Amino acid sequence: MKAQVKMKNDTSRHGDIYNPATGEVIGQVPFSSKDDVDAAVAKAKKALEGWSQTPPARRARIMFKFLELLNKNAKELARIVSTEHGKVQTDAEGEVQRGIEIVEWTTGVPNLLKGEYSDSVGTGVDSYSLRQPLGVVAGITPFNFPAMVPMWMFPIAITCGNTFILKPSERDPSASRFMGELLAEAGLPDGVFNIVNGDKEAVDAILHHPDIQAVSFVGSTPIAEYIYKTGTSNNKRVQALGGAKNHMIVMPDADINQASDALMGAAYGSAGERCMAISVAVAVGDKVADDLVASLTPRINALKVGPGTDAKAEMGPLITKQHLEKVKGYVATGVKEGAKLAVDNRDLKVKGHESGYFMGGCLFDKVTKDMTIYKEEIFGPVLCLVRAKSYQEAVDLINSHEYGNGTAIFTNHGGVARKFMRDIKVGMVGINVPIPVPVATHSFGGWKRSLFGDVHMHGEEGVRFWTKLKTVTARWPEGPATGANYYFPQNK
Ligand code: NAD
Repeated sequence: MKAQVKMKNDTSRHGDIYNPATGEVIGQVPFSSKDDVDAAVAKAKKALEGWSQTPPARRARIMFKFLELLNKNAKELARIVSTEHGKVQTDAEGEVQRGIEIVEWTTGVPNLLKGEYSDSVGTGVDSYSLRQPLGVVAGITPFNFPAMVPMWMFPIAITCGNTFILKPSERDPSASRFMGELLAEAGLPDGVFNIVNGDKEAVDAILHHPDIQAVSFVGSTPIAEYIYKTGTSNNKRVQALGGAKNHMIVMPDADINQASDALMGAAYGSAGERCMAISVAVAVGDKVADDLVASLTPRINALKVGPGTDAKAEMGPLITKQHLEKVKGYVATGVKEGAKLAVDNRDLKVKGHESGYFMGGCLFDKVTKDMTIYKEEIFGPVLCLVRAKSYQEAVDLINSHEYGNGTAIFTNHGGVARKFMRDIKVGMVGINVPIPVPVATHSFGGWKRSLFGDVHMHGEEGVRFWTKLKTVTARWPEGPATGANYYFPQNK
């Protein structure tokens, strides 16, 4: 593939790629060494000379072509995602569509690069500002959105005039490779978009490379913190998005059926492997809690669990055997710590796919804030129900949690919803919307330990992240020299 950096023949490090629905190895990915990363950066640096000087409209035109190719190949890209990740085809198609929307938005980026102009900031003096690309930049992405998360990054970075190194997750790297092929077909010059694969070795080579100006990361919180600290200590601009524990408050005036339907999709969709999944439902009052358990139980038991190739499946397998064991371990810990396991489908088996990494949906009731299953991100199909006595107790719970990615409230009371929206210390808020992932025109980002850095992902924040601001003050003298002035320039 044109956009992929060729691996050295002598490299012996590689990872297996699995189909999580069958447990079979379906491919291998060579792990890039430091030398491979150096080679990719050198290529990107060479391409930067021409690409950064290409007018933004022409860069955007290539994104238009990429957009056409993405639309044409959306189902195939989704199939690749579903095969390596395990999420069902409709879910994978949704992910691809959200990525496509970022590319659509990106075709308008030249409008945001046009800068601002102030006439006559002083006598005969004008001032203007412009945004210029940073140079060679990098993105490091997680397994759970192998198409969408890279598309949060590279389309905007590239259209802003940077050249890009992508290090996708080693567990499902083929979606990135396919997008690289489409970019090449769209006419992107060689070296503008580059892929390195692998693990910590490739990541560390990126973090320490003196020619990489900025790093965008999405993944778990411990790694996000490491990326942020290491990258910034090497003088790079870094945004590092981390893990989450997203709460959804259900108020006594909410429609229980609507709230239950919303919780089903938000907690069990994609087997709970979404950074915006709702993993904690906070019922305000015991009646709401009892009603929720009663309405969720049959829904969870009726969940159709199966491989992505089954058009009727609503929830696929987990990503790896190790992750399946980890999630089941959390369920065991929850029981040990005294939470009530109201629905237990841990040992569900899918006929014909006994070696796949499947489990069914689980529901814990009476979870308290000191429990491990409440404090830590489980990242599986396990919903924790916490009983709060009041709205304020529910809000305090959310505000004191270490994560602050997404949250939601279900209520019919406009005043309560507005107060919640203002009071809550979380980056993305839903009002009767369980997964409030911002659309392409807005920006994505959490608060607290869900994001290290200041700038959110994509939208105008994306353009700010991938560019540097320059401000020019210009005078064109009309008369002869008037002598030196030693005071600080001022507008008097
Ligand atoms: P991860 O942190 O294990 O991996 C993310 C990336 O970091 C991968 O490319 C991986 O190769 C690399 N990596 C892993 N270990 C490393 C190490 N020790 N040193 C350097 N690099 C390393 O995350 P994951 O399991 O792929 O993805 C799931 C996590 O991502 C969850 O915590 C989820 O909440 C989070 N996530 C967050 C968002 C968000 O927007 N906040 C979005 C998607 C996923």
